[in-house]
Amino acid sequence: KFQGMSKERMMEIRKLNCNAMTMKVTYYKKPIFIHQGFMQWLWDVDGSRYLDMFAGVATVSLGHCYPKVTKAAQEQLQRLWHTSAIYVHPQIQEYAEKLASHLPDPLKVVYLTNSGSEANDLALLMARLHTGNFDAITLRGSYHGGSPLTMGLTSNTVYKYPVASSSGCFNTMCPDVFRGPWGGSHCRDSPVQTIRECSCSPGQCQANKHYMEQLMEVLNTSVSKRIAGFFAEPIQGLGGTVQYPKNFLKEVYKLVRERGGLCVSDEVQTGFGRTGSHFWGFQAHGVVPDIVTMAKGIANGFPMGAVVTSEEIARPFASGVHFNTFGGNPLACSIASAVLDENCAVVGTHLLMELAKLRDKYEIVGDVRGKGLHIGVEMVKDKVSREPLPVDAMLEIMEDTKDMGVLIGRGGIYGQTFRIQPPMCITKDDADFFLAVFDQALHNYMERKR
Ligand code: PMP
Repeated sequence: KFQGMSKERMMEIRKLNCNAMTMKVTYYKKPIFIHQGFMQWLWDVDGSRYLDMFAGVATVSLGHCYPKVTKAAQEQLQRLWHTSAIYVHPQIQEYAEKLASHLPDPLKVVYLTNSGSEANDLALLMARLHTGNFDAITLRGSYHGGSPLTMGLTSNTVYKYPVASSSGCFNTMCPDVFRGPWGGSHCRDSPVQTIRECSCSPGQCQANKHYMEQLMEVLNTSVSKRIAGFFAEPIQGLGGTVQYPKNFLKEVYKLVRERGGLCVSDEVQTGFGRTGSHFWGFQAHGVVPDIVTMAKGIANGFPMGAVVTSEEIARPFASGVHFNTFGGNPLACSIASAVLDENCAVVGTHLLMELAKLRDKYEIVGDVRGKGLHIGVEMVKDKVSREPLPVDAMLEIMEDTKDMGVLIGRGGIYGQTFRIQPPMCITKDDADFFLAVFDQALHNYMERKR
């Protein structure tokens, strides 16, 4: 049991000394004070246990204090904490080689950073230097970071401030087959299909065509003739676990390359096996990006990020000196290396299939989607109007779920999508516990509304 400072004191300090973001957001109405974690479990200062179905925003990929990773960290802590990449140290070479071996040719050149924002910053700079072009395109609803440069790539109002954003960043429509105007049951690659009526026959997806026209319009009316790059996640995470129509990314990549741009896959959330069927999210789309960016799950919660690209794309980057004090330090590399050695079985498809049953049971569950342990449950007022369930109702359900011992996340441009992205060590029993709790919370909500 926790013996430290009182909750009241922690809240006082949070208000006084922590930044505006943490002051505003406690995630729950009655905040939780997390004190300890092991694998898929978290304990609060009162000793209550929670099943963590959000993993610190899809970051603790293997599990809290995952023993083999903790051991690697402890060993490295006693050997060497830090030296800059100006020296050669074995951890960075070992890790770079190991990481590169997980990527297809020609993606073999690794840059190590401390976060996803830094990785995307670097990717944008690389794309601009390599192509000699400036403009970048992202999908609406996207999140690629909060640094001044990546805030331009990010297209999610919640994370924007009324200041001049970095120039040269443009957005195209996000091909959301549930909420967007086009698409339906055949359109996306998921073990569960959207129940939305769809007029297109399998393999003849019209949604793709319409969303490609939107991109064409951006290319023809908004950006300069030649572009530096296109950034997208294989499944849009913060945007609400949005999956695109089949072949969308493939067609976009082709068009972007015709316009001189590079294609960047932001694997910050989808990488490292999160989507189950593949190690990287882009693999499910049948594409090979020019640049891949990653963070979060890369080191099971230790701050780290990476950019991997080809030798050719990296070459102009060598004309200057790129330096990052902490990027690729021995401790981060040892931890990330131990993460890559682990191989976790996932129970994602079971979760998806069972959640689809809840979708059929409750009028307010509009859509269940995702792959592996990257799952979204989009909540609606009713299935016909598909209006987003108001935030207050979302918070009520989340609070109830928490009070029954399960932590989940939330996303989507209206905050209308529950996000299920647990550590990959969860078992089928954990999944069933979560499903029972979630079912009960939905039931309780419906009862209260009657
Ligand atoms: N890209 C994506 C897809 C993300 O989800 C995030 C973080 N939520 C980032 C980039 C930025 O990563 P970081 O917070 O490590 O800067």
